[in-house]
Amino acid sequence: MKRVRFAPSPTGYLHLGNARTALFNYLFSRHENATFILRIEDTDLERSKKEYEEMLMEDLKWMGIEWDEGPDVGGPHGLYRQSERLEIYVKYVDKLLKSGDAYYCYCTEEELEQEREKAIAEGRPYRYSGKCRNLTPEERAFYEGKGIKPVVRFKVPDKTVVFEDIIRGHVEIDTKEFGDFVIVRQDGMPVYNFVVVIDDALMGITHVIRGEDHLSNTPKQIVIYEALGFAIPQFAHLPIILGEDRTKLSKRHGAVSVRALKDDGFISEAVFNYLSLLGWHPKEEKEILSKEEIIKQFRIEDVNKSPAIFDRTKLRWMNGVYIREILDLDDLTKRAIPFFEGFGYKADYEFYKKVISAIRDSIETLMEIKERAKVFFVDEFPYTEEIVNEVKSDENVYKVVEIFYNKIKNLSAITKEDFKNITKEIQKEYGYKGKVLFHPIRIALTGEPSGVGLDLLVEVIGVERVKFRLERFLE
Ligand code: GLU
Repeated sequence: MKRVRFAPSPTGYLHLGNARTALFNYLFSRHENATFILRIEDTDLERSKKEYEEMLMEDLKWMGIEWDEGPDVGGPHGLYRQSERLEIYVKYVDKLLKSGDAYYCYCTEEELEQEREKAIAEGRPYRYSGKCRNLTPEERAFYEGKGIKPVVRFKVPDKTVVFEDIIRGHVEIDTKEFGDFVIVRQDGMPVYNFVVVIDDALMGITHVIRGEDHLSNTPKQIVIYEALGFAIPQFAHLPIILGEDRTKLSKRHGAVSVRALKDDGFISEAVFNYLSLLGWHPKEEKEILSKEEIIKQFRIEDVNKSPAIFDRTKLRWMNGVYIREILDLDDLTKRAIPFFEGFGYKADYEFYKKVISAIRDSIETLMEIKERAKVFFVDEFPYTEEIVNEVKSDENVYKVVEIFYNKIKNLSAITKEDFKNITKEIQKEYGYKGKVLFHPIRIALTGEPSGVGLDLLVEVIGVERVKFRLERFLE
């Protein structure tokens, strides 16, 4: 049985890069019928926060990503939070110390700094010298006596580590490039490169799918697998995600967390769809794909190694397609309600539904409801100077609004059809037509030179509010 995992550190919001990693693990698991595990990598106790862990899970769920084993759902492989697994790590550190694959290192910061400076002066890259590799028991006792707290270093064998990455192909790295690295810090905390191996091995992970930024960690992890006699999983390093300016995607590129997209009014299915295309594409040219279609077609072997570009304009376009064409009206209305409420637009469900139906073709995100839906909620909007001047300089403007008002003032209801009939009548009786007819009505009713269809607007807001707005204009 294949097993994959997503292993975020709960030190902030779920970044889009991590969300894409989670997504590709999820897609792999659903396509391959594999088990998907969520593991929380919270060994950095200072930066890790429980709130972030909760938000991470919420954001994954919002995207439509579910896991089979994890800290909240449990599973047969024990604890899924690294902070709860410290005893397990200690056991394996002891094992490595006993077998001679790891050793205590008492070098002080100053000594290491000297080594580093020397390397720089000689123009070679810095590697730990291995000074503490072969300390005698007396030397160790001496350092311990001085109260120096050691780190534990892994004794890296001299070799070329070779592996076949599913995405990047053949990778070879000489261990001389990194030297003996620390696996347990002075404060007793084991480090990422060590614990990740223990967890992946004990959790039976068969495929490690993660960001390309971890490629240089993989050889370090492989030598630990080998020292402990664990089976080495297959690796797939996903291409980096860049902004449109070809630099690594970061805050400079605007909202780059799942949470921010959600708050900005993006539809979760569109985010799922869009992120699936960052590094992967289906066989045919189609870009709007349902979750099921993506799962069916997704093959990790087809992921590119070249960087993926996060194109916000395209994401917005795709979001617009989901708003206009894919979600059904009730579903869309339900998702839009928190936005209406957030903007202070109060109404009942049926009214919201009518508004959404009227504006869905003209918005790309739910955030745009704020501007687009304003005309349905705000009766006492300000008239701009431009409008005031227009009324003063063109007597037809006032006249048209007055004629329209007289036509509707005795009505007790108004539909789209009524509006069309009334404006046709005005055209016949007074000769006003086109812009000369509709523009004055629009500015009187909305205070804006353009926007939603007037027939729709009057039907949705109802005749009393139409009268109120016209009276306010004619005052
Ligand atoms: N906690 C690591 C990260 O968030 C996990 C890396 C890995 O998948 O091995 O980058």
